[in-house]
Amino acid sequence: MSAGTDAGWLPLRDELRGIEPYGAPQLDVPVQLNVNENPYGPSEACVADIAAGVAEAARTLNRYPDREFTALREALAAYLSRDVAAGQEPIAAEQVWAANGSNEVMLQLLQAFGGPGRTAVSFAPTYSMYPEYARDSGTTWVAGRRAEDFSLDLDAARELVAEHGPSVVLLPSPNNPTGTALPPEAVDALCVAVAEHGNGGRGGIVVVDEAYGEFRRAGTPSALEQLPTHRNLVVTRTMSKAFAGAGLRLGYLAADPAITDAIRVVRLPYHLSSTTQATALAALRHAPELLGQVDALRAERDALVVWLRAQGHEVADSDANFVLFGRFADRHAVWQGLLDRGVLIRETGPEGWLRVSVGTPEEMAAFRDALVIVTKEDQ
Ligand code: PMP
Repeated sequence: MSAGTDAGWLPLRDELRGIEPYGAPQLDVPVQLNVNENPYGPSEACVADIAAGVAEAARTLNRYPDREFTALREALAAYLSRDVAAGQEPIAAEQVWAANGSNEVMLQLLQAFGGPGRTAVSFAPTYSMYPEYARDSGTTWVAGRRAEDFSLDLDAARELVAEHGPSVVLLPSPNNPTGTALPPEAVDALCVAVAEHGNGGRGGIVVVDEAYGEFRRAGTPSALEQLPTHRNLVVTRTMSKAFAGAGLRLGYLAADPAITDAIRVVRLPYHLSSTTQATALAALRHAPELLGQVDALRAERDALVVWLRAQGHEVADSDANFVLFGRFADRHAVWQGLLDRGVLIRETGPEGWLRVSVGTPEEMAAFRDALVIVTKEDQ
C-alpha cells in the first residue's frame, strides 16, 4: 500500500502522500548481487564470540544500555585510526558517533544541522536515500549534477554551494551508484566553499560518506586524513559493507567533537541497544577476519570491469564493491532476464545503466553467464 492513497483520512504530511517506502526488492533467488553486501559470512569462531557477548549483555537486559556507548566508540576510534595519514593524531573516541546504520547517522546529522529553512546539497547521480533524509527532516533538497564521467565538476560544485548556501553537503566517496571516489582536492574545495557560503555565510558541514571506503583502490586516500584540516568535515562509515555486518545495523562517523556533541541533542535516548553494542564490539575484535575477503573482492571487481568492457559495455570506474554498467535501451528487460536466470542485480542509477554488486567467484560466473545470454537475446 502506498502511503496516503488508500487512507485519505490519515493526517499524513502532504509530501508523504502516495510515496512508496524505499527499498530494493528482497527476492529469494540463488544469486543476490543487488544491495552491495559482503558475500562472505562470519566464521564459527566469530559467531561464538558474538553469541558470548550478546549472552553477557542479556544478563543485564533489565537495565538500559550505556547511552554514550563508550567502549564501542573507543573500539571504532581504534579501527578508524588505521586509515589516518602518517604523523596524524589517531582518531579519539569523542570524535566518533554511531547509530543503527549510517542511514540513521545521516538522518541525525540532518536533524541537527538541517531542518526547515535550511538546505542540503548533493550531486546526482547519488545515493537515493539522501533526498529522503532531507524530506524527513524538513530540509530543502538541492541536487547538482556530476560530469559525464561521474566525476565532480569543482567549479560547478562551488557555484552551486555559493548559490544555495547549504547547511549540509552530502558526498559519497566512493559514490553510490557509480563507484566513483573523490580526490582529496574536491573534499578540500567543498569544505572551504561550504565554510564560507553555507548556512547564510555562517558555515555548513560537508559529509563524506565512505560507506564503501574500505574497497577503494590503492592510492585513493580516505577523507579521514583531512579531518585535522577542516573542522566542518564529517566522515561516515558503516559495518554493513566491507565489514560483512549488514544485519548488524551499525554505522558511525568521525568528526570534530563539537559535531558529535551536537548530535547527542537529537538522538533518541539509548538508541543503540546493549545487544547491538555487544555484537559490534565482538565483530570489531574479529576485524582482520571479517575484512579478510576485501582484497579478493577488489580483485574480483577489477576483473569484472575488464570483462564487461571486453563485452562492449560502458562501465564506470569503481572504487566500491559494485559496478555500474550499460547502456541498455531497455534496462528493465535486462534486469528481468537476469532475474529469470536466478541473478538479482539492481535497476538504479541514470536511465540505461544497471548496478551489480561483487559476489563470490561462483556468483560472478553465474552473473557473467546469464548476462551473455540475456544481452544476446536483447539484440
Ligand atoms: N551510504 C551509501 C552510499 C550507501 O550505499 C548505503 C547503503 N546502501 C548507506 C550509506 C547506508 O548503509 P547502512 O545504513 O547499512 O550503514
